[in-house]
Amino acid sequence: MDSHGYLLTRLVSCLYSTCMSEDFIQLTCRSCGGKLNVYDDTDRFACASCGVEMIVHRRGGTVALSAVTDAIKQVQAGTDKVAAELALARLSAESDALHARASDLRVKSSKAFTCIVAAIGCFLVGLMLSSTNAGQGLVVFSVIAGGFNYLKKKGCQQILTEVRHQLRHVEGEMQKHRMIVNG
Ligand SMILES: [Zn+2]
Repeated sequence: MDSHGYLLTRLVSCLYSTCMSEDFIQLTCRSCGGKLNVYDDTDRFACASCGVEMIVHRRGGTVALSAVTDAIKQVQAGTDKVAAELALARLSAESDALHARASDLRVKSSKAFTCIVAAIGCFLVGLMLSSTNAGQGLVVFSVIAGGFNYLKKKGCQQILTEVRHQLRHVEGEMQKHRMIVNG
């Protein structure tokens, strides 16, 4: 190569490096492993090999890539967490209300049971005095009172079973949301 040729080559290569070589760094695609040229002014692009969209993160002279799907997943996870926290608060209030309801029902049921026992006592006394009007009245009264409280207690137990069922459901839901909140 003569000196002119050499100079010309140098000039072209110099021009090329000045005009054509923009500031870019080469990174590897996180998705397919292909080579990526990341230019200074790029903050989002798609991999030429696999088409996955990348976001460029620049921090203190370092450049990192994340696939857009990762970013979306993170946002999704954040949204899920917030939703789970809200759901937990609602379910917790629901659970408290159900516990209060169950405790109320247990008290009512136990009162009805006491009334049934008292009614049986009255019935027996009424039987002993059945030759008198008062005794017959007591028998009739105790049968009515006993029957009424028997139905009351049965109703309480039925609702209590339903409340317990709801509580189990609510607690199961809470467990699921706790797992999302705790990651
Ligand atoms: Zn790729």
